[in-house]
Amino acid sequence: MDTHETKLSARTRNISPEEWEVRVNLAACYRLIAHFGWDDLILTHNSARVPGEPKHFLINPMGLMFNEITASNLLKMDLDGNLAEPSEYEANRAGYVIHSAIYLGRPDVQCVIHTHTEADIAVGALEEGLLPLSQWAMRFYNRLGYHDYEGVSLDLDERERLQQNIGNHPVLVLRNHGLLVTGRNVAEAFSLTYHFERSAEAQLKIMAAAAGARMVVPSADTCEHQAALFAGNEPRLQGQREWPALLRLADRLDPSYRN
Ligand SMILES: [Zn+2]
Repeated sequence: MDTHETKLSARTRNISPEEWEVRVNLAACYRLIAHFGWDDLILTHNSARVPGEPKHFLINPMGLMFNEITASNLLKMDLDGNLAEPSEYEANRAGYVIHSAIYLGRPDVQCVIHTHTEADIAVGALEEGLLPLSQWAMRFYNRLGYHDYEGVSLDLDERERLQQNIGNHPVLVLRNHGLLVTGRNVAEAFSLTYHFERSAEAQLKIMAAAAGARMVVPSADTCEHQAALFAGNEPRLQGQREWPALLRLADRLDPSYRN
């Protein structure tokens, strides 16, 4: 669905076909996050590492709503915070700090999604965090990091603590703030974001319904077994089967993300 003009403009900007494909997937990810209601005006940010250029990543320009993000208006930054090519837009400082922390500390990560949703923040504000109360939540059992709130992430020295707190986990709960989800590609990060959001929403409903009464929680062995099946023992990346369907949804909503 890419038009002749957009392919031409990608070529004049020296964008490789591999980078263009990641740009299209990341732009679709923005549109889908807005569609599912996990965006926060122009705030929050999602990024993807540029294929073959481990020190560069793509991220949204400051000031655009998620449904205005396109493959071509994503900024290309290096891990020192410099724009790799001129843009009429500015970068988001907090976005640079958070995303560069993950790319510096985790060479396996190719995509980072950062959301602020009420469900993320509510679960992150509970001392016990996310509980294994639903099948959605099983993939995060013993596979979550937690990071205490330090204010808006503008200082580079927070990067070390973000790296320590996420460790080798795929997801970091930013207490009182939101969520940071990683993936080995855009589809995997989106899938984990989806499952965390559903898990958090379900937990809040279960806790409200229980109103202090005992809740039914599967055994630790069952939770660990299922988490390993979802994440550890499955060589296939998570979220790959539904991604083509999600791209078709993004196309039906508004195919301009491909521009
Ligand atoms: Zn944030």
